[in-house]
Amino acid sequence: GTNRQDSVNNANSPLKLFTHAKTTITEIFKNIAVYVGDANKFLDDVNKSERNLLTNEKYKEIQQLKEKVNRILSIISRDHMKVVFFGRTSNGKSTTMNAMLRERILPVGMGHTTNCFLQIEGTDKAEPYVLTPGSDEPKSVSSLGNVGSALSREKLDSDSLVKILWPKEKCRLIRDDVVLVDSPGIDVSANLDQWIEQHCLDADVFVLVISAEATITVAEKKFLHNVAQRLSNPNIFILMNRWDATANEPEMVDSVRQQHLDRGLEFLCDELHICDRQEASEHRMFFISAREALLKRNKDPTSSPRTGFNEGHEERFAEFNNFEHEFEKCISKTAVQTKFEQHTNRGKEIISILRDTTSNIANRSQTLKQEAVQKLTDMDEQHNKLERELRSMTETAKDKIRHVSEDVYKRVAQTLND
Ligand code: GDP
Repeated sequence: GTNRQDSVNNANSPLKLFTHAKTTITEIFKNIAVYVGDANKFLDDVNKSERNLLTNEKYKEIQQLKEKVNRILSIISRDHMKVVFFGRTSNGKSTTMNAMLRERILPVGMGHTTNCFLQIEGTDKAEPYVLTPGSDEPKSVSSLGNVGSALSREKLDSDSLVKILWPKEKCRLIRDDVVLVDSPGIDVSANLDQWIEQHCLDADVFVLVISAEATITVAEKKFLHNVAQRLSNPNIFILMNRWDATANEPEMVDSVRQQHLDRGLEFLCDELHICDRQEASEHRMFFISAREALLKRNKDPTSSPRTGFNEGHEERFAEFNNFEHEFEKCISKTAVQTKFEQHTNRGKEIISILRDTTSNIANRSQTLKQEAVQKLTDMDEQHNKLERELRSMTETAKDKIRHVSEDVYKRVAQTLND
């Protein structure tokens, strides 16, 4: 049942790769902060005893490391994984996002109330709220319909950003530090470069939502071409949505699917050179019904429990689950690499500055030599330990993701069998 699958997703989600990495690197930087504090005390003493051992500049630099480490800690605490959804209006972006969130958070449907970027992110507060551009005042969203109506009152440009702060405790994806961005319907007139510049440069994953009744449009292709120009090797998923419509023409399903697949692969592999065809067909294109997936996870209280599912919905739901799993693997791996590699390097930089300074002092002073040598040995130990930890973080990450994916596959298969 639902409970079981939720708990499966909870404990074994590939997103844990990111959240664990974040916890680990936070611990490491807290240790670095202690190390910096120790070094500062030592240098204070050095400074008092024999001034000429340490230039004022160096002394200041080391003092400032404390500030620097705190800044990095605060950046780490705000690190998240970001996914941008795009595609033409009505292809099902909002429905897909709601299905992934397991709640009807975004307004859906015709007469779409917003024509701007909508970002859903976590808050520790118990109630959701909305932040609109140009105002720090949170607007409350007591019921879901209100996200739409709260926005329809605003006059917003297509490149402006509205934030929906959603209680972390209510939603796993958000709790695990995923930030989801919905974009205005893409058409040829959109200022794509500006969109990318303002909202997409820090995205870890892009999800193009297409309606299976249509094909990829010029605007959608152009957007991805521009993304690929700005970001090296972007992660792109293509969702062929509304695949439930094929239930009406079962004899056509296979050939239509093949056509879509061919076009999608041609675009991803031959035009954008994102990955090879096998990789793309297994991990980057999915035939889904966001409507059914949402219905399954979040019953529409106004409809009877059996309505809304077309022939073949089990396979489409399995494919939706499959997409999510690939998505979670991809986004956590990318975010860990891009974000934590930087932090790791800064950490190494900081400790080597400290070590060089201390060893300099040791070399220049006979009287302080003994003390400094001891300090140096301690620091070496600490330094090596920190470096080992930083290195092993990347290693565990790799291991972890393998375990997690095997386990999740097993359990999802089991749940589906049930
Ligand atoms: P967006 O403009 O891309 O965000 O599209 P929405 O998510 O608002 O969806 C537009 C309309 O299409 C809504 O009425 C949805 O219920 C419907 N819709 C979304 N996904 C599906 C799907 O997989 N199958 C079907 N049949 N309808 C869908």
